[in-house]
Amino acid sequence: MMKLIINSLYRNKEIFLRELISNASDALDKIRLLSLTNKSVLDAISELNIRIKADKDTGMLHITDTGIGMTRNDLVNNLGTIAKSGTAEFLGKMQSAESSQELNDMIGQFGVGFYSAFLVADKVLVTSKHNDDKQYIWESDSSSYTIAEDPRGDSLKRGTTVSLQLKPEAKDFLEHETIKTLVKKYSQFINFPIYLWTTRTETVEEPIEEESSEETTQKPVEDEEDAAVEEEKEDKAKTKKVTKTVWDWELLNDSKPIWTRKPSEVNEKEYNEFYKALTKDDKDPLTKIHFVAEGEVTFKALLYIPRVQPSESFNRYGTKTDNIKLYVRRVFITDEFNDMMPSFLNFIRGVVDSDDLPLNVSRETLQQHKLIKVIKKKLVRKVLDMLKKLPVDEYEKFWKEFSTNIKLGVIEDPANRTRLAKLLMFLSSNNDKITSLSDYVSRMKPKQDKIFYIAGASRDEVQKSPFVERLLRKGYEVLYLTEAVDEYAISAIPEFDGKKFQNVAKEGFSLTESEGGKERLEQLQKSFEPLTKWLTDDVLKEYISKATVSERLSDSPCALVASLFGWTGNMERLAISNAH
Ligand code: ADP
Ligand code: MG
Repeated sequence: MMKLIINSLYRNKEIFLRELISNASDALDKIRLLSLTNKSVLDAISELNIRIKADKDTGMLHITDTGIGMTRNDLVNNLGTIAKSGTAEFLGKMQSAESSQELNDMIGQFGVGFYSAFLVADKVLVTSKHNDDKQYIWESDSSSYTIAEDPRGDSLKRGTTVSLQLKPEAKDFLEHETIKTLVKKYSQFINFPIYLWTTRTETVEEPIEEESSEETTQKPVEDEEDAAVEEEKEDKAKTKKVTKTVWDWELLNDSKPIWTRKPSEVNEKEYNEFYKALTKDDKDPLTKIHFVAEGEVTFKALLYIPRVQPSESFNRYGTKTDNIKLYVRRVFITDEFNDMMPSFLNFIRGVVDSDDLPLNVSRETLQQHKLIKVIKKKLVRKVLDMLKKLPVDEYEKFWKEFSTNIKLGVIEDPANRTRLAKLLMFLSSNNDKITSLSDYVSRMKPKQDKIFYIAGASRDEVQKSPFVERLLRKGYEVLYLTEAVDEYAISAIPEFDGKKFQNVAKEGFSLTESEGGKERLEQLQKSFEPLTKWLTDDVLKEYISKATVSERLSDSPCALVASLFGWTGNMERLAISNAH
């Protein structure tokens, strides 16, 4: 297994650049955030950027940022052990991968943090200067490390240079074209300028020596027109075109955040690329929404729904922070607020950027800010709107992945219950497809006032149930709730479109519509009274609360029905299987 991991990692080794640039960007975010409450942290150097330099003579690649930097202690604590980075968790996850394709996908999505530098380098040097300490050099060959004060003094002023002594087989990463391609592929949406120290060829006109011009003046002049031409030639002759190679910093990315652009000016490809850079997902998103909210609070948001349910979402359900990055006036604040999305929407990825939130307060204060709640409320509404507007085929794809989330939402979010109920889909006796509740309601029989449903382990089980026999025979449609969470979700909705729900495994409904039918039923109840009484008060006294003449059976002799507020057989089944 380990061999497979190393192999897969190795094939993905180019991600090292993405990881190092992402660390540089994090460090820049940190100093920028600090500078909001204390301007002087930028005194040593005010520009915030990332610079890449490839040195072919020494085979070294340097990535420099003017971020927060690391003190001596930080170097020890942050880079010292493999367990400190996400690497340990990552390796743990990798062990469970079942194929090398899956491994590749995981590596792409996870990244291995700082340690990925060793995929391409034999030796890594980290030179760092933090405002609170001197400049140090951390050096490692991946098995052990040393730290020493930098004899060059505080040359960085502030920030970090990661220098890689590239392995012989990784020398391609010194090529400018390779670096440009990788930055474009993985880091184009980094919100700080990324520069590459590179050459460009310039063609310049340079004056040439005097002697040659003397030659031209000796040529005979024939007429005026010719004279003009000659004069031009003469001018040209005084200069010559020279191609020169100049070294300069070339900007590789457009650091204007995509969400601040007008939706009409961003194309689909850019949205998708941004999604991939944001999430490390290698698939395009299912859909996105990009909007400006105005009113009580103004903010811009760009939200995405992934195509596939992230595998860890339910393990971390309710405990994990959401996946929304919060910016205030283009400054990254945090992706660790729990408050931007409710748990049931934790699969939504994206960014929110508001001009109305204060910048010069601590994160804790910001988290308590009343506008955060307003933003959250609007985000949820927008997401639900987006889902409602999805074309049917896209919605079916969504439902396949995220149905449980919506059902949990119905249970957990009373304020949006009605909106969420409109998004629910269930199997039904109508056909073998799933149906929405509003489609069910549109097919209800004229005198039917309740939405019938039955819950069970599978479609096969519920459609054979005695509870639905007579309903189906009389042409009523019954919803088949076959997922564990379905019955809880429906129980949370009092009604839909004015229609109450009726669990057909429970008492409390009548199929007898006509007057004559009612009379007949009363007659039957009367003539069977000795039997029902005997069952209720005598033989089954300890097991049932009462026996009645049933309206719901046609072929089966009897059925066990739950009381209106009691547990159905299906609920009992779920409770028992959960307990085991
Ligand atoms: P992660 O980025 O997920 O925290 P990494 O392995 O990428 O994990 O990095 C480990 C830690 O090293 C970071 O959390 C950060 O504290 C520190 N670090 C890495 N690169 C830099 C840098 N360029 N500037 C400042 N700190 C850095
Ligand atoms: Mg990192």
